[in-house]
Amino acid sequence: MKKILIIGAGFAGLSAAGRLSKSGLGLEITLLDRKRAFNFLPLIPDCIGRRINPEFLCNDIAAFCRKLSIKFIQKEVNSVDLAAKQVQAGSTSHNYDYLIISSGSQPNFFSNPDARAYGFPLNNVEDVQRIISCLQENNYENVIICGAGYTGVEAATNLWLYFKKNKVSKNIIMVERAPSALGPLPAWMKDYAGRNLKSIGIEVLTNTVIEKAGPDKVLVSGGREFVRSVLIWVPGVKTAEFIQKLDIPKNPQGRIVVDEYLRLNQSCFCAGDTAFFSSKNTSLRMAVQFAITQGDLAAQNIIRNIKNMPLKKYRPLDLGYIIPMANNCSCGQVMGLNVSGWLATLLHFSMCIFRSIGWINRAGITRNLIKSLF
Ligand SMILES: Cc1cc2nc3c(=O)[nH]c(=O)nc-3n(C[C@H](O)[C@H](O)[C@H](O)COP(=O)(O)OP(=O)(O)OC[C@H]3O[C@@H](n4cnc5c(N)ncnc54)[C@H](O)[C@@H]3O)c2cc1C
Repeated sequence: MKKILIIGAGFAGLSAAGRLSKSGLGLEITLLDRKRAFNFLPLIPDCIGRRINPEFLCNDIAAFCRKLSIKFIQKEVNSVDLAAKQVQAGSTSHNYDYLIISSGSQPNFFSNPDARAYGFPLNNVEDVQRIISCLQENNYENVIICGAGYTGVEAATNLWLYFKKNKVSKNIIMVERAPSALGPLPAWMKDYAGRNLKSIGIEVLTNTVIEKAGPDKVLVSGGREFVRSVLIWVPGVKTAEFIQKLDIPKNPQGRIVVDEYLRLNQSCFCAGDTAFFSSKNTSLRMAVQFAITQGDLAAQNIIRNIKNMPLKKYRPLDLGYIIPMANNCSCGQVMGLNVSGWLATLLHFSMCIFRSIGWINRAGITRNLIKSLF
Protein backbone atom coordinates (compact mmCIF):
# COMPACT_ATOMS: atom_id res chain seq x y z
CA MET A 1 0.00 0.00 0.00
CA LYS A 2 1.51 3.35 -1.07
CA LYS A 3 1.88 5.96 1.64
CA ILE A 4 0.99 9.53 0.68
CA LEU A 5 1.70 12.46 2.98
CA ILE A 6 0.19 15.89 2.46
CA ILE A 7 1.63 18.81 4.45
CA GLY A 8 -0.92 21.60 4.87
CA ALA A 9 -4.72 21.47 4.85
CA GLY A 10 -5.32 24.69 2.97
CA PHE A 11 -6.94 25.06 -0.45
CA ALA A 12 -4.22 23.02 -2.18
CA GLY A 13 -3.93 20.28 0.46
CA LEU A 14 -7.69 19.70 0.71
CA SER A 15 -8.05 19.64 -3.05
CA ALA A 16 -5.26 17.03 -3.30
CA ALA A 17 -6.74 14.97 -0.45
CA GLY A 18 -10.17 14.96 -2.15
CA ARG A 19 -8.73 13.70 -5.43
CA LEU A 20 -6.45 11.06 -3.86
CA SER A 21 -9.23 9.68 -1.66
CA LYS A 22 -11.24 8.83 -4.77
CA SER A 23 -8.40 7.04 -6.59
CA GLY A 24 -9.62 3.54 -5.76
CA LEU A 25 -5.99 2.44 -5.31
CA GLY A 26 -6.23 1.74 -1.57
CA LEU A 27 -3.71 4.46 -0.72
CA GLU A 28 -2.69 5.27 2.85
CA ILE A 29 -3.24 9.03 2.88
CA THR A 30 -2.22 11.24 5.82
CA LEU A 31 -2.87 14.96 6.03
CA LEU A 32 -0.69 16.96 8.43
CA ASP A 33 -1.53 20.46 9.58
CA ARG A 34 -0.46 22.49 12.59
CA LYS A 35 -3.97 23.86 12.95
CA ARG A 36 -7.29 22.26 13.81
CA ALA A 37 -9.32 24.20 11.26
CA PHE A 38 -9.05 25.17 7.61
CA ASN A 39 -9.32 28.97 7.22
CA PHE A 40 -10.98 30.63 4.24
CA LEU A 41 -8.44 33.44 3.88
CA PRO A 42 -9.98 35.74 1.21
CA LEU A 43 -12.69 36.90 3.62
CA ILE A 44 -10.45 37.38 6.66
CA PRO A 45 -10.20 41.19 6.26
CA ASP A 46 -14.01 41.39 5.95
CA CYS A 47 -14.37 40.12 9.52
CA ILE A 48 -13.20 43.61 10.55
CA GLY A 49 -15.38 45.92 8.46
CA ARG A 50 -18.24 43.78 7.21
CA ARG A 51 -18.51 41.88 10.48
CA ILE A 52 -18.35 38.47 8.86
CA ASN A 53 -18.43 35.96 11.67
CA PRO A 54 -14.99 34.27 11.66
CA GLU A 55 -16.69 30.98 12.50
CA PHE A 56 -18.08 30.89 8.96
CA LEU A 57 -14.52 30.96 7.61
CA CYS A 58 -13.49 27.78 9.46
CA ASN A 59 -13.90 24.09 8.69
CA ASP A 60 -12.83 21.31 11.03
CA ILE A 61 -10.02 19.42 9.25
CA ALA A 62 -10.54 16.19 11.23
CA ALA A 63 -14.22 16.07 10.17
CA PHE A 64 -13.23 16.71 6.53
CA CYS A 65 -10.72 13.84 6.71
CA ARG A 66 -13.23 11.46 8.33
CA LYS A 67 -15.58 12.02 5.40
CA LEU A 68 -12.80 11.10 2.96
CA SER A 69 -11.63 8.18 5.14
CA ILE A 70 -8.11 9.57 5.38
CA LYS A 71 -5.93 10.17 8.43
CA PHE A 72 -5.42 13.62 9.97
CA ILE A 73 -2.55 14.48 12.29
CA GLN A 74 -2.57 17.91 13.91
CA LYS A 75 1.14 18.65 14.20
CA GLU A 76 3.60 21.18 12.87
CA VAL A 77 6.11 19.79 10.40
CA ASN A 78 9.66 20.71 11.48
CA SER A 79 11.72 19.13 8.74
CA VAL A 80 11.62 17.05 5.59
CA ASP A 81 14.35 14.62 4.55
CA LEU A 82 13.85 14.30 0.81
CA ALA A 83 16.53 11.61 0.38
CA ALA A 84 15.17 9.39 3.17
CA LYS A 85 11.55 10.23 2.22
CA GLN A 86 10.77 11.15 5.78
CA VAL A 87 8.83 13.99 7.41
CA GLN A 88 9.46 15.04 11.01
CA ALA A 89 6.45 16.47 12.87
CA GLY A 90 7.06 17.12 16.55
CA SER A 91 8.78 14.04 17.94
CA THR A 92 7.31 11.68 15.34
CA SER A 93 8.69 10.84 11.92
CA HIS A 94 6.54 9.74 9.03
CA ASN A 95 7.77 7.84 5.98
CA TYR A 96 6.22 8.39 2.61
CA ASP A 97 6.22 7.06 -0.94
CA TYR A 98 4.83 10.35 -2.24
CA LEU A 99 4.77 13.76 -0.59
CA ILE A 100 2.71 16.86 -1.40
CA ILE A 101 4.03 20.06 0.16
CA SER A 102 1.12 22.51 0.36
CA SER A 103 1.95 24.46 3.50
CA GLY A 104 1.02 27.85 2.02
CA SER A 105 2.66 31.03 3.21
CA GLN A 106 2.99 32.90 6.49
CA PRO A 107 3.69 36.51 7.52
CA ASN A 108 7.21 37.71 6.84
CA PHE A 109 8.55 39.94 9.62
CA PHE A 110 11.76 40.50 7.63
CA SER A 111 13.82 39.92 10.82
CA ASN A 112 12.38 43.11 12.27
CA PRO A 113 12.12 42.53 16.05
CA ASP A 114 9.70 45.47 16.55
CA ALA A 115 7.36 44.12 13.92
CA ARG A 116 7.42 40.67 15.50
CA ALA A 117 6.79 42.09 18.97
CA TYR A 118 4.23 44.79 18.21
CA GLY A 119 2.90 44.25 14.67
CA PHE A 120 -0.41 42.48 14.09
CA PRO A 121 -0.27 40.13 11.08
CA LEU A 122 -3.45 39.33 9.16
CA ASN A 123 -3.07 35.80 7.93
CA ASN A 124 -5.69 33.69 9.67
CA VAL A 125 -8.81 33.76 11.82
CA GLU A 126 -6.86 34.07 15.08
CA ASP A 127 -4.99 37.11 13.69
CA VAL A 128 -8.20 38.93 12.75
CA GLN A 129 -9.77 38.15 16.11
CA ARG A 130 -6.69 39.63 17.84
CA ILE A 131 -6.97 42.79 15.72
CA ILE A 132 -10.68 43.22 16.47
CA SER A 133 -10.13 42.74 20.24
CA CYS A 134 -7.25 45.19 20.17
CA LEU A 135 -9.40 47.82 18.43
CA GLN A 136 -12.25 47.24 20.87
CA GLU A 137 -10.07 47.42 23.96
CA ASN A 138 -7.86 50.40 23.06
CA ASN A 139 -8.66 53.91 22.06
CA TYR A 140 -5.99 54.30 19.38
CA GLU A 141 -5.78 57.47 17.35
CA ASN A 142 -3.89 56.01 14.37
CA VAL A 143 -3.83 52.68 12.60
CA ILE A 144 -0.60 52.19 10.68
CA ILE A 145 -0.66 49.50 8.01
CA CYS A 146 2.74 48.36 6.85
CA GLY A 147 2.45 47.13 3.25
CA ALA A 148 0.21 48.53 0.52
CA GLY A 149 -0.32 45.36 -1.48
CA TYR A 150 -3.63 43.50 -1.95
CA THR A 151 -3.99 42.60 1.73
CA GLY A 152 -2.92 46.03 2.97
CA VAL A 153 -5.47 47.83 0.79
CA GLU A 154 -8.21 45.38 1.79
CA ALA A 155 -7.33 45.75 5.46
CA ALA A 156 -7.21 49.56 5.26
CA THR A 157 -10.65 49.87 3.68
CA ASN A 158 -12.13 47.38 6.15
CA LEU A 159 -10.71 49.40 9.04
CA TRP A 160 -12.29 52.49 7.49
CA LEU A 161 -15.64 50.68 7.40
CA TYR A 162 -15.18 49.44 10.97
CA PHE A 163 -14.62 52.99 12.26
CA LYS A 164 -17.47 54.33 10.13
CA LYS A 165 -19.89 51.75 11.57
CA ASN A 166 -18.68 52.57 15.08
CA LYS A 167 -19.09 56.29 14.31
CA VAL A 168 -15.55 57.21 15.32
CA SER A 169 -12.92 59.09 13.40
CA LYS A 170 -9.38 57.65 13.29
CA ASN A 171 -6.39 58.12 11.02
CA ILE A 172 -5.54 55.20 8.74
CA ILE A 173 -2.05 55.43 7.29
CA MET A 174 -0.49 52.95 4.89
CA VAL A 175 3.29 52.71 4.79
CA GLU A 176 4.83 51.31 1.61
CA ARG A 177 8.52 50.82 0.82
CA ALA A 178 7.89 50.90 -2.98
CA PRO A 179 7.16 54.06 -5.00
CA SER A 180 3.47 53.14 -5.29
CA ALA A 181 0.74 51.05 -3.69
CA LEU A 182 -0.28 47.78 -5.41
CA GLY A 183 3.17 47.49 -7.06
CA PRO A 184 2.92 45.23 -10.12
CA LEU A 185 -0.71 45.97 -11.07
CA PRO A 186 -1.76 47.84 -14.24
CA ALA A 187 -1.59 51.65 -14.02
CA TRP A 188 -5.39 52.18 -14.28
CA MET A 189 -5.97 49.89 -11.29
CA LYS A 190 -3.34 51.64 -9.20
CA ASP A 191 -4.86 55.03 -10.12
CA TYR A 192 -8.37 53.83 -9.34
CA ALA A 193 -7.39 52.32 -5.99
CA GLY A 194 -5.25 55.37 -5.12
CA ARG A 195 -8.13 57.78 -5.81
CA ASN A 196 -10.51 55.58 -3.87
CA LEU A 197 -8.23 55.39 -0.81
CA LYS A 198 -7.79 59.17 -0.90
CA SER A 199 -11.56 59.74 -1.20
CA ILE A 200 -12.15 57.93 2.10
CA GLY A 201 -9.27 59.66 3.85
CA ILE A 202 -6.71 56.86 3.87
CA GLU A 203 -3.19 58.26 3.60
CA VAL A 204 -0.57 56.28 1.66
CA LEU A 205 3.08 57.03 2.43
CA THR A 206 5.19 55.59 -0.39
CA ASN A 207 8.99 55.19 -0.43
CA THR A 208 8.65 54.91 3.35
CA VAL A 209 9.57 52.21 5.86
CA ILE A 210 8.82 51.54 9.52
CA GLU A 211 11.91 52.56 11.47
CA LYS A 212 10.76 51.68 14.96
CA ALA A 213 7.63 50.46 16.66
CA GLY A 214 6.54 50.10 20.27
CA PRO A 215 3.35 49.01 22.02
CA ASP A 216 1.54 52.20 20.94
CA LYS A 217 4.03 54.20 18.91
CA VAL A 218 5.32 53.93 15.33
CA LEU A 219 8.20 55.86 13.80
CA VAL A 220 8.53 55.91 10.01
CA SER A 221 11.44 56.96 7.79
CA GLY A 222 11.56 60.71 7.29
CA GLY A 223 11.07 61.21 11.03
CA ARG A 224 7.27 61.16 11.29
CA GLU A 225 6.15 59.63 14.56
CA PHE A 226 2.66 58.33 15.25
CA VAL A 227 1.63 58.11 18.88
CA ARG A 228 -1.38 56.17 20.22
CA SER A 229 -0.99 53.87 17.23
CA VAL A 230 -1.53 50.25 16.40
CA LEU A 231 0.59 48.56 13.72
CA ILE A 232 -0.94 46.09 11.24
CA TRP A 233 1.86 44.12 9.57
CA VAL A 234 1.14 42.97 5.99
CA PRO A 235 4.21 43.81 3.85
CA GLY A 236 4.66 40.28 2.50
CA VAL A 237 4.79 36.56 3.13
CA LYS A 238 7.28 33.71 3.09
CA THR A 239 7.02 29.94 3.12
CA ALA A 240 7.18 27.67 6.20
CA GLU A 241 10.39 27.30 8.25
CA PHE A 242 10.95 23.67 7.23
CA ILE A 243 11.07 24.79 3.58
CA GLN A 244 13.59 27.54 4.41
CA LYS A 245 15.89 24.77 5.73
CA LEU A 246 15.77 22.69 2.53
CA ASP A 247 18.67 23.11 0.13
CA ILE A 248 16.59 23.22 -3.05
CA PRO A 249 15.84 25.87 -5.73
CA LYS A 250 13.53 28.58 -4.33
CA ASN A 251 12.47 32.11 -5.20
CA PRO A 252 13.23 34.98 -2.74
CA GLN A 253 9.97 34.31 -0.81
CA GLY A 254 11.11 30.72 -0.34
CA ARG A 255 8.59 29.28 -2.80
CA ILE A 256 9.82 25.96 -4.19
CA VAL A 257 10.64 25.95 -7.89
CA VAL A 258 8.62 23.15 -9.49
CA ASP A 259 8.69 21.64 -12.97
CA GLU A 260 5.77 21.60 -15.40
CA TYR A 261 4.29 18.58 -13.57
CA LEU A 262 4.50 20.41 -10.20
CA ARG A 263 7.36 18.15 -9.05
CA LEU A 264 10.31 18.98 -6.89
CA ASN A 265 11.62 15.45 -7.48
CA GLN A 266 10.20 12.04 -8.49
CA SER A 267 8.34 11.55 -5.21
CA CYS A 268 7.67 15.11 -4.03
CA PHE A 269 5.09 17.47 -5.50
CA CYS A 270 4.30 21.04 -4.40
CA ALA A 271 1.06 22.99 -4.75
CA GLY A 272 -0.43 26.36 -3.86
CA ASP A 273 1.52 29.27 -2.38
CA THR A 274 4.43 26.91 -1.67
CA ALA A 275 4.99 26.17 -5.37
CA PHE A 276 6.82 28.60 -7.61
CA PHE A 277 5.50 27.77 -11.05
CA SER A 278 6.40 29.79 -14.09
CA SER A 279 5.72 29.38 -17.75
CA LYS A 280 6.50 31.69 -20.67
CA ASN A 281 8.60 33.88 -18.34
CA THR A 282 5.64 34.67 -16.08
CA SER A 283 5.29 33.27 -12.61
CA LEU A 284 1.94 32.57 -11.01
CA ARG A 285 0.78 34.79 -8.15
CA MET A 286 -0.46 33.34 -4.88
CA ALA A 287 -4.19 32.79 -5.34
CA VAL A 288 -6.94 30.40 -4.37
CA GLN A 289 -7.76 29.35 -7.93
CA PHE A 290 -4.18 28.16 -8.57
CA ALA A 291 -3.89 26.46 -5.17
CA ILE A 292 -7.01 24.38 -5.86
CA THR A 293 -6.05 23.35 -9.39
CA GLN A 294 -2.44 22.63 -8.42
CA GLY A 295 -3.48 20.48 -5.46
CA ASP A 296 -5.75 18.54 -7.78
CA LEU A 297 -3.09 18.10 -10.46
CA ALA A 298 -0.38 17.07 -7.98
CA ALA A 299 -2.76 14.35 -6.75
CA GLN A 300 -3.63 13.27 -10.31
CA ASN A 301 0.06 12.98 -11.14
CA ILE A 302 0.74 10.82 -8.09
CA ILE A 303 -2.10 8.50 -9.17
CA ARG A 304 -0.71 8.46 -12.73
CA ASN A 305 2.79 7.69 -11.45
CA ILE A 306 1.51 4.73 -9.45
CA LYS A 307 -0.39 3.48 -12.51
CA ASN A 308 2.71 3.99 -14.72
CA MET A 309 0.84 6.50 -16.86
CA PRO A 310 2.44 9.65 -18.34
CA LEU A 311 2.17 12.70 -16.06
CA LYS A 312 -0.03 15.70 -16.93
CA LYS A 313 1.49 19.16 -17.37
CA TYR A 314 0.07 21.98 -15.27
CA ARG A 315 -1.71 24.45 -17.54
CA PRO A 316 -3.06 27.27 -15.37
CA LEU A 317 -6.29 28.95 -16.35
CA ASP A 318 -6.21 32.48 -14.94
CA LEU A 319 -9.78 33.67 -14.32
CA GLY A 320 -8.50 37.01 -13.05
CA TYR A 321 -8.36 38.84 -9.76
CA ILE A 322 -10.10 41.58 -7.80
CA ILE A 323 -8.71 44.10 -5.32
CA PRO A 324 -11.62 44.17 -2.88
CA MET A 325 -12.20 47.51 -1.18
CA ALA A 326 -14.74 47.71 1.61
CA ASN A 327 -16.45 50.89 0.40
CA ASN A 328 -17.57 48.73 -2.56
CA CYS A 329 -15.25 50.50 -4.99
CA SER A 330 -13.26 47.36 -5.83
CA CYS A 331 -11.32 46.90 -9.06
CA GLY A 332 -9.74 44.11 -11.03
CA GLN A 333 -9.63 42.06 -14.18
CA VAL A 334 -11.95 39.12 -14.75
CA MET A 335 -11.56 36.90 -17.82
CA GLY A 336 -9.49 39.61 -19.45
CA LEU A 337 -12.04 42.39 -18.82
CA ASN A 338 -11.42 45.38 -16.55
CA VAL A 339 -14.05 45.65 -13.82
CA SER A 340 -14.56 48.20 -11.07
CA GLY A 341 -17.02 49.46 -8.45
CA TRP A 342 -19.99 47.43 -7.26
CA LEU A 343 -19.66 44.87 -10.04
CA ALA A 344 -16.10 44.04 -8.96
CA THR A 345 -17.22 43.80 -5.34
CA LEU A 346 -20.07 41.44 -6.21
CA LEU A 347 -17.82 39.27 -8.39
CA HIS A 348 -15.33 38.95 -5.53
CA PHE A 349 -17.99 37.91 -3.04
CA SER A 350 -19.59 35.50 -5.53
CA MET A 351 -16.18 33.82 -5.86
CA CYS A 352 -15.85 33.69 -2.07
CA ILE A 353 -19.29 32.15 -1.54
CA PHE A 354 -18.69 29.65 -4.33
CA ARG A 355 -15.26 28.60 -3.01
CA SER A 356 -16.10 28.44 0.70
CA ILE A 357 -16.70 24.97 2.13
CA GLY A 358 -20.05 23.66 3.42
CA TRP A 359 -23.57 25.03 3.11
CA ILE A 360 -23.67 26.33 6.72
CA ASN A 361 -20.64 28.53 6.06
CA ARG A 362 -21.95 29.62 2.66
CA ALA A 363 -25.32 30.57 4.12
CA GLY A 364 -23.68 32.39 7.05
CA ILE A 365 -21.31 34.34 4.82
CA THR A 366 -24.14 35.25 2.43
CA ARG A 367 -26.31 36.47 5.31
CA ASN A 368 -23.49 38.56 6.82
CA LEU A 369 -22.57 40.02 3.43
CA ILE A 370 -26.14 40.95 2.48
CA LYS A 371 -26.51 42.72 5.82
CA SER A 372 -23.27 44.60 5.28
CA LEU A 373 -23.77 45.43 1.58
CA PHE A 374 -27.34 46.68 1.67
C1 LIG B 1 -5.85 38.14 4.08
C2 LIG B 1 -5.73 37.37 2.80
C3 LIG B 1 -6.60 37.65 1.75
C4 LIG B 1 -6.51 36.94 0.56
N1 LIG B 1 -7.40 37.21 -0.44
C5 LIG B 1 -7.37 36.47 -1.58
C6 LIG B 1 -8.35 36.67 -2.60
O1 LIG B 1 -9.22 37.54 -2.50
N2 LIG B 1 -8.28 35.88 -3.71
C7 LIG B 1 -7.31 34.91 -3.85
O2 LIG B 1 -7.30 34.21 -4.85
N3 LIG B 1 -6.38 34.72 -2.90
C8 LIG B 1 -6.37 35.46 -1.78
N4 LIG B 1 -5.43 35.26 -0.80
C9 LIG B 1 -4.36 34.27 -1.06
C10 LIG B 1 -4.88 32.85 -0.87
O3 LIG B 1 -5.57 32.77 0.36
C11 LIG B 1 -3.72 31.87 -0.90
O4 LIG B 1 -3.11 31.96 -2.17
C12 LIG B 1 -4.23 30.44 -0.65
O5 LIG B 1 -4.74 30.33 0.65
C13 LIG B 1 -3.10 29.44 -0.84
O6 LIG B 1 -3.55 28.17 -0.54
P1 LIG B 1 -2.55 27.08 0.04
O7 LIG B 1 -3.31 25.81 0.12
O8 LIG B 1 -1.29 27.11 -0.73
O9 LIG B 1 -2.15 27.62 1.49
P2 LIG B 1 -3.05 27.94 2.77
O10 LIG B 1 -4.46 28.10 2.39
O11 LIG B 1 -2.35 29.06 3.44
O12 LIG B 1 -2.90 26.62 3.66
C14 LIG B 1 -1.66 26.20 4.16
C15 LIG B 1 -1.90 25.26 5.34
O13 LIG B 1 -0.63 24.73 5.72
C16 LIG B 1 -0.54 24.70 7.13
N5 LIG B 1 0.88 24.75 7.52
C17 LIG B 1 1.76 25.74 7.29
N6 LIG B 1 2.97 25.41 7.76
C18 LIG B 1 2.85 24.18 8.31
C19 LIG B 1 3.76 23.30 8.97
N7 LIG B 1 5.04 23.61 9.16
N8 LIG B 1 3.27 22.13 9.43
C20 LIG B 1 1.98 21.77 9.26
N9 LIG B 1 1.09 22.57 8.64
C21 LIG B 1 1.51 23.75 8.16
C22 LIG B 1 -1.33 25.94 7.57
O14 LIG B 1 -1.78 25.80 8.91
C23 LIG B 1 -2.46 25.96 6.56
O15 LIG B 1 -3.59 25.27 7.02
C24 LIG B 1 -5.50 35.94 0.41
C25 LIG B 1 -4.62 35.66 1.45
C26 LIG B 1 -4.74 36.37 2.64
C27 LIG B 1 -3.79 36.04 3.78
